Amino acid sequence: MPNSNIRVRFAPSPTGPLHIGGVRTALYNYLFAKKTGGTFILRIEDTDQGRYVAGAEDYILKSLKWLGLDPEEGPRIGGEYGPYRQSERKEMYGKYAMQLIENGKAYYAFDTPEELDAKRKEEAAKGNHNFRYDNVTRNEMKNSLTLSDTEVEQLTTNGNKFVIRLKIPVNEAVTFTDLVREEVTFQTNELDDKVLLKADGMPTYHLANIVDDHLMKITHVIRGEEWLPSTGHHILLYRAFGWEGSMPQFAHLPLILKPFGNGKLSKRDGAKFNMPVFPLAWKADSEKDSFLGFREFGFLPEAAINFLAFLGWNPGTEQEMFSLEELCETFSIEKISKSGARFDYDKAKWYNQQYVHATDAATLAKMTRPLVDVKEYEVSDEFLLSYCDLMKDRVVLLNDFLSEGNYFFEGVREYDDKNISKRWNPEIRRSFEALSELINGTADFNANSLETAIKNFINGNNLKMGQIFPLLRIALAGTMKGPDVFRMIELLGKTETVARLKKAMDYFDKI
Ligand code: GLU
Repeated sequence: MPNSNIRVRFAPSPTGPLHIGGVRTALYNYLFAKKTGGTFILRIEDTDQGRYVAGAEDYILKSLKWLGLDPEEGPRIGGEYGPYRQSERKEMYGKYAMQLIENGKAYYAFDTPEELDAKRKEEAAKGNHNFRYDNVTRNEMKNSLTLSDTEVEQLTTNGNKFVIRLKIPVNEAVTFTDLVREEVTFQTNELDDKVLLKADGMPTYHLANIVDDHLMKITHVIRGEEWLPSTGHHILLYRAFGWEGSMPQFAHLPLILKPFGNGKLSKRDGAKFNMPVFPLAWKADSEKDSFLGFREFGFLPEAAINFLAFLGWNPGTEQEMFSLEELCETFSIEKISKSGARFDYDKAKWYNQQYVHATDAATLAKMTRPLVDVKEYEVSDEFLLSYCDLMKDRVVLLNDFLSEGNYFFEGVREYDDKNISKRWNPEIRRSFEALSELINGTADFNANSLETAIKNFINGNNLKMGQIFPLLRIALAGTMKGPDVFRMIELLGKTETVARLKKAMDYFDKI
């Protein structure tokens, strides 16, 4: 139950997969709600039918779920202020647009797309390439401000098509205090008379967004910087409705910038730098529009959250590791930065590595299981658990669990020939045969007793560690890299170790 009146919403449009910037917006809204004892709401802004993409809403819900950002109100959840999908609220918006017509804050416009186009061309011919329907040009257009009452009456009945536009006042300054950007001023002469209700009776983003924020009693609008230019219109809308007294406060989040160079992070950067810029995989009709997300790259949701939290915010201390719960306690809007946040993928991986290290092997094994199953490796839960425990210090992304130790599952596919030929000789072969027997005879088959037995064997036979261990590793793993060799033997088990030694010796002889 909320214990404050603070209500925030994440209001994505289902026009495609939710990019990482959208996820950060959701996260900051969530954190602010939790920090203040308020309510986090999900609202789907799907009034633009032309841009609707099937599967996008599902994607949004799944992404929030994966990250643990559960809304308290929203589609499929319900709540007192529903429905939470704008397409299901479409009947209401017309009434609000009419309210503005009646109080003179909006007007009907009858210009057809062709007429608007002709006007645009006419202006361009005069050298004005930025035609705008605004508080000057509206006086030259076909609307209820320029036509007689009788004409307007005719044009708004009998199924004639029209739009409703916001009547931007002349020569005013609109000032508000953004919680991130501080004081921001818009000159009304710079603003266009935005369409509020379209010819098909559907509201535009601006109308639906303001009406819903009002009806849903939203107290704080936390959203990306790209919406800052619209805020002048939004404030004028609140004024036009007479809702200024309950207008939410605004906080515009800084841009997320490309890892290198200038400009904001784009979908293309994902492919270019082989990194995820979306939370989950997206399967489109064409290969080139499909991609993998943070989850499929092998990120833990906790790491993705921690990384995203720091993209534009920091607590002002040295602490970098924050669980979602800690973030809920520590987050504050005042510490959001004004300047853009660089998307540093190495930092994202660093976070993941920290979380993998801090996660217990049983949990890691559960997460690794689907990856193992996709490869059709047949391994027991017990094996996977010990494996994750052995390998977790060598892993950055969850997928590394497979690539770093694939020889555990597949056997050795390729040996490090160069290092074999330098070291292998008949004398060493005899030692290896004896070593194999020793391993085969070890009753207490665990890393500790194996270590003692093998080291005693090496010392007792006047051998050097460097003569045995590199080759032993190559025999078991194909490479000299890898985790602790005694734990490796314990995990492979006696039969498999002895079999690998035999196979390796035969191969080594031929090099
Ligand atoms: N539907 C808008 C979007 O897709 C919402 C912007 C806002 O939060 O006001 O981002």
